[in-house]
Amino acid sequence: MSPRAVERLESGHPWIFTSDVVDRGGACPGDAVHIVDHRGRPSGTAHFSSSSQITLRVLSRASITPDAAFFRERIQKALAFRQRIAHDTDAYRLVFSEADLLPGLIVDRYRDCLVVQTLSQGMDRAKDDIVAVLVELLNPAAILARNDAAVRKHESLPIETAVWHGEVPDAIPVRMNGFDLEVNPLQGQKTGVYLDQRENYLAVARHARGRALDCFTSTGGFALHMARSCDSVEAVDSSETALRAASANALRNRISNVTFREADAFDLLAGYAAARQRFDAVVLDPPAFTKTRGGVEAAARGYKDINLRALKLLGAGGILTACSCSHHFTEALLLETVAQAALDAGKTLRILERRTQAQDHPILLTVPETLYLKCIIFEVL
Ligand code: SAH
Repeated sequence: MSPRAVERLESGHPWIFTSDVVDRGGACPGDAVHIVDHRGRPSGTAHFSSSSQITLRVLSRASITPDAAFFRERIQKALAFRQRIAHDTDAYRLVFSEADLLPGLIVDRYRDCLVVQTLSQGMDRAKDDIVAVLVELLNPAAILARNDAAVRKHESLPIETAVWHGEVPDAIPVRMNGFDLEVNPLQGQKTGVYLDQRENYLAVARHARGRALDCFTSTGGFALHMARSCDSVEAVDSSETALRAASANALRNRISNVTFREADAFDLLAGYAAARQRFDAVVLDPPAFTKTRGGVEAAARGYKDINLRALKLLGAGGILTACSCSHHFTEALLLETVAQAALDAGKTLRILERRTQAQDHPILLTVPETLYLKCIIFEVL
């Protein structure tokens, strides 16, 4: 490793990039390797990737063997943390990659089924140990690998979905915040549903009243929660599959004041603004507008656009919820972008809450990439 890599490690970040690896020492794809600094001193143990820009993902600063006992200890700790912080839900993220000191591994729990993603060569090769430990600790009915995430291409790993244990049902009933929801782990977006907004649903519902609009609703999380506090909710998404799941969730919970609409949210917002429609609450939770630092400027235009259109629908006392799940689009940038939209719309906004991802997606202080979700709730004065 180069001195720069050592500095990075010492700053608490577990990634070492290709350009900082001086000698690969014949490592094979997915090997667990012992790393040494530029003076040959042992610096820890890492998973090696032969194709990613992130050549090494550090598992420990000690020289260890990442065997089943290693995974048992880390996963047990991840589970104990979730038992402490995940309330009122049997659907939560059990392992969140770097933030649980298991870089490249995601495990989501949907009641008695687990959905796993192994996103690095090292974690992919360790799957037998990971499955054995999960079965031992949780005795799940099924373990599904949703390894159809595009990031696996950087690792030269196949894009695939596979059953690793038991039998995966088409639909898993889960409880969340007092709702009965159904998750389809085989077809759903990500590993089934978006779990990271769970705490934000409750926060937004605490403020929203009257007539609400949930743009980018997916399986209906914000819409269903707002249905409890609002007179009516309109929920919009461009995905018919997501909307079908959302309507089924409404029906299952005997919620009748939500209307689901398949539409492009940009067009719908523009149309409503032109028609001078009025809402009391608008939620904007779009897909990531940029996955790279270079895309930040274009993303800002997208965020400004939807926020400006949404603000035109809101009068005094109206509630705007602006989310961004792009890591590179920081909270500061989002606040600045919404401020520009508010100035253009001639509205004064008060920040009610500055929120982030739910606690089962923990944030490591020295690994900024673990903080990705922003959810800011504003009130129009
Ligand atoms: N709020 C959701 C998550 C939203 S994810 C929740 O809490 O579960 C982003 C969603 O935006 C996806 O469901 C995707 O289908 C939808 N989407 C993407 N582009 C869109 C567009 N132009 N108009 C409407 N929906 C869109």
